[in-house]
Amino acid sequence: MSGSDKPNYRAWFQSLARPEERYALDEIVYTDSQGGLLQVVHDMDELAKTSADEWKRILDGRTRGGNWPYGSGVWGMKEWVLPEIDNDNVVSMYEGHSNLFWAERYGAQIGVEDLWIKLCGNSHTGSFKDLGMTVLVSMVKEMIAGGKEIPAVACASTGDTSAALAAYAAAAGIPSVVFLPRGKISMAQLIQPVSNGAIVFALDTDFDGCMEIVKQVAERDGVYLANSMNSLRIEGQKTISPEIVQDFGWEVPDWLIIPGGNLGNVSALAKGLDLLLDLGIIDRKPRICVAQAEAANPLYLSYLKDFAVFEPVAARTTVASAIQIGNPVSIDKAVDALRRYDGVVEQASEGEIYEACAAADRTGLFNCPHTGVALVALEKLVGRGLVKGSDRVVVVSTAHGLKFVDFKLEYHQMQVSGMIPELSNPPIDLPADYQTVRDQMRREIDRRFAG
Ligand SMILES: *Cc1c(COP(=O)(O)O)cnc(C)c1O
Repeated sequence: MSGSDKPNYRAWFQSLARPEERYALDEIVYTDSQGGLLQVVHDMDELAKTSADEWKRILDGRTRGGNWPYGSGVWGMKEWVLPEIDNDNVVSMYEGHSNLFWAERYGAQIGVEDLWIKLCGNSHTGSFKDLGMTVLVSMVKEMIAGGKEIPAVACASTGDTSAALAAYAAAAGIPSVVFLPRGKISMAQLIQPVSNGAIVFALDTDFDGCMEIVKQVAERDGVYLANSMNSLRIEGQKTISPEIVQDFGWEVPDWLIIPGGNLGNVSALAKGLDLLLDLGIIDRKPRICVAQAEAANPLYLSYLKDFAVFEPVAARTTVASAIQIGNPVSIDKAVDALRRYDGVVEQASEGEIYEACAAADRTGLFNCPHTGVALVALEKLVGRGLVKGSDRVVVVSTAHGLKFVDFKLEYHQMQVSGMIPELSNPPIDLPADYQTVRDQMRREIDRRFAG
């Protein structure tokens, strides 16, 4: 890797359906000429000139280090992500390298001894969306530096995407515009883009109506589109799987369980694994399970028919609001990923999501509802005998529980309609009197921890 042998890493957009159709990564293009999805493709021959052992050594050496921007989990894999970008244009908040930990007590309860949680929500804006947004906003900064006229970056979103876009755009000094459906947004979902100075439009419509508007301002006014059809985001998100493998000392787990809505993230997970296989860093495939809410389960329904047919559904309300999507953009990429990684799909009812989150929280976790969907799926896989008690399983936790406190409050205050919670734990109101407090405390300790 020195002198004239210096590698010339390259990547480009390529049409999924027509591989001959290619675009440069600094072109403003979101779909191919027929409206189909693009993906970022890397010059693998060039990457393969570096041996597997050398890649491992390089990545281990960069982890959490101070050499900008390589200490970030995403930019530590810069050659695999966006090799040609100028480091000065990288917009990073040192995302990635989220903690992976052994969920010993919860695993024992559901019969999986080797259960691990990858907490992708332990990140700047509290969800894995940061991993993709650092890449997209960096590319925008590079395009602007190169003279392209981009007045703003925009997305339609109700939650995590707009939070990540607003934060990274603000860090770069680039205007961001967020389109939200008025009255359908919680305070927590609204406050991040508001605080970060995004132009926040609350439109008198639903999410799909917002999507229509954002597409128009992208087409007619040159605003750069940050929604998930933009495949730059996948390049950042695909670092999740190499990072998990790195966390295990470059060993592959048996199962990866991930919640899915628009299905970009499962496509990304598989894309990261593809890269590791291509470079010879791993020689074995894990299996993948996508977990969906029963209220928004088009992939699950398709799985039941062996993916022979796919039909969008009208998504119903679910506490797992980030995956309340009936017509996923990345369906083709996701089905391809599941076919190649011996994948399965499971679903979770609303009641199951509440109870799984509560049970896991009791063992020290603090789950967002989407992670709860994945935990329900895992229990069902154990029940079906697909996950064995000795398998090493990783649940990809997609957001921080603190972003989704409303559903936990509802549960513990026993306000979920049609449901009597098994593990509710409301605060106990008492007068400030020692004897009263002491008696109640002793009763509670005995009730909870006896036998
Ligand atoms: C975006 C999001 C998802 C779903 O990811 P997709 O790529 O749309 O499948 C799951 N959980 C959380 C917390 C999210 O923000």
